[in-house]
Amino acid sequence: MNGVCPAIAAPLLAWYDAGHRDLPWRAEPTPYRVWVSEIMLQQTRVEAVRGYFSRWMERLPTVRALAEADEAVYMKLWEGLGYYSRVRNLHRAAVQLCEQYGGELPGDYETLLALPGVGDYTAGAVASIAFGLPVPAVDGNVLRVAARLEGDFTPITDPKLKRTVRARFAALMPHDRPGDFNQALMELGATVCLPNGAPLCSGCPLRHLCLGYQNGTAAALPVRAAKKARRLENRTVLLARCGSLVGLSKRPGSGLLAGLWELPSLPGHLTPDQTRERLAEKGWQIDKLLSLRPAKHIFTHVEWHMIGYYLELANRPEGLTFAAPPDLRADYALPSAFRAFLSVIEEET
Ligand code: SF4
Repeated sequence: MNGVCPAIAAPLLAWYDAGHRDLPWRAEPTPYRVWVSEIMLQQTRVEAVRGYFSRWMERLPTVRALAEADEAVYMKLWEGLGYYSRVRNLHRAAVQLCEQYGGELPGDYETLLALPGVGDYTAGAVASIAFGLPVPAVDGNVLRVAARLEGDFTPITDPKLKRTVRARFAALMPHDRPGDFNQALMELGATVCLPNGAPLCSGCPLRHLCLGYQNGTAAALPVRAAKKARRLENRTVLLARCGSLVGLSKRPGSGLLAGLWELPSLPGHLTPDQTRERLAEKGWQIDKLLSLRPAKHIFTHVEWHMIGYYLELANRPEGLTFAAPPDLRADYALPSAFRAFLSVIEEET
């Protein structure tokens, strides 16, 4: 990388000032609001985050409110956003902030970086947007823009690229508007310099400075190393009713969807007879068994291919917790992977 042209700052900021998306966390960029929004936005689309952010701020408006909240409350507020380690880290960090910093986020990049769940991008975003510190915030979006501006063919996952881009942006960042500079880059990546070979160069304020555009290579950048194929996992999901109640189990405390409630399931795709047999061994007394529509859920590294059965039970087997359907939505954080099966109950309620 030869260096992003220092002249990008002025046209980028002028473009940002002329009109950018009206996002709830931009209206009042306190450190807490910037932090929570940035954690929510990791791996999640802006449009999906809006509602979550507003509900979160209504219920948990301060670091202290988050630190003192019950797990069920913050998990429920996060339900459907996925990557649940993010919300657990938010809570752990809030507790730490109350113990060590009087319930405030510190205005110091290194200290922010040491908080649970805070990486260089989030620390940079909070430091620059909320505290006005001249620190870059480089995520995948910004790396894409930088690789195209520079016509750089280094694979985007190569840590060298990120280090270089961070150093370049740190050097050219206007010290009077570091937060706006970072947000303008993010905005450009999200609305103009789009991913998957689809940059909208004709509307880009940096076109005259962009090597990717000038060389005709923008759409081919950034270079991505071939992805490892996702592991496929077959599961048989059980929507088990005892009277009007629904049986739930809790996932293990570590790994995928750690500690969340789920519909119980069995490994593999089992026939009705195999399912009856397997569950009888565990003491389940099944009165009725009906097939449900299959569903698929894609996580980062694994894909669940699920078939499902609706069961009516004559007993409440050990190890299951039973909940009334209206409480499922209100009190239990159930991953969206099970949404297709739960829709049977939602139709009913
Ligand atoms: Fe991206 Fe095109 Fe703008 Fe270059 S000119 S930064 S490739 S949108």
